[in-house]
Amino acid sequence: MKNVKLGHSTPTVCLDAGHFGKYNPSPVVDGYYEAEMVWELHLKLKSELEKRGIRVVTTRENQATDRSLTSRGKASVEADLFLSLHSNAAASQYPNWVVGMYFVDDDCGKIDEQSREIAEILSKKVASLMGVGHQTYTRKSSKDRDRNGHLDDYYGVLRGAHSVGTPGVILEHGFHTNTENTRWLMIDENLDKLASGEAETIANWFGIGTKLLDFQIPVLKKGCRGCAVQGLQALLRGHGYDQLAIDGSFGGATDRALRDYQAQNNLAVDGSCGRVTWSALLGL
Ligand SMILES: [Zn+2]
Repeated sequence: MKNVKLGHSTPTVCLDAGHFGKYNPSPVVDGYYEAEMVWELHLKLKSELEKRGIRVVTTRENQATDRSLTSRGKASVEADLFLSLHSNAAASQYPNWVVGMYFVDDDCGKIDEQSREIAEILSKKVASLMGVGHQTYTRKSSKDRDRNGHLDDYYGVLRGAHSVGTPGVILEHGFHTNTENTRWLMIDENLDKLASGEAETIANWFGIGTKLLDFQIPVLKKGCRGCAVQGLQALLRGHGYDQLAIDGSFGGATDRALRDYQAQNNLAVDGSCGRVTWSALLGL
């Protein structure tokens, strides 16, 4: 696993549906609202991320309410990545590309590199799905300064995320001032494609593999019995706990082996074999 904060055993993403209510109607396609598209997309992306063993927190409880920019960014305090979803606007039909905005301050530490990297790979992925080009950039405020006196980031959500130590990205899914982009975004299956493509890219970035655990998976802990426990014991033996009996009974020895395996692999040491531990054991 990589790109997670110290002590985190499960990668966590804070998802921000960029706007609320009926914000930003498309001037070129009737019925499109940026706020509605990003609400749908963030719910789909949440479910795709969770399928891949990634924990998700969101910045809004419902679509109808707003929240300040910096407080949305700060909602990522427990997360390893902050992602704000949007579609862009311009004065003409011409712009039709994907944009990833990231934060860079003048002390350019690790989280700036992380946010630059994830902005690049996410915008590239989205561009390939939408069949358009992409660009990434960082933008400074012309007046706001951070506590070191440097010019701050232009974007409030990125400032908020940065202030709690989380790499942040604003992802603009094409332009709702471009007819073709807007029509593409109004097709539900295209949002499904975006959600799974973005989730896969993020899972890769966390280094947790991309195979989908899209099925009911048994959560095993001390006291469990049966074939699934035998499977777990066989996997643990394969990972070096070769004294462990494959008897289908999750007792003290299996518990100790599992906790040791979790500790060695930066997983939550809870003695419980759930989605994330299964993924690691299976090498997914
Ligand atoms: Zn927006």
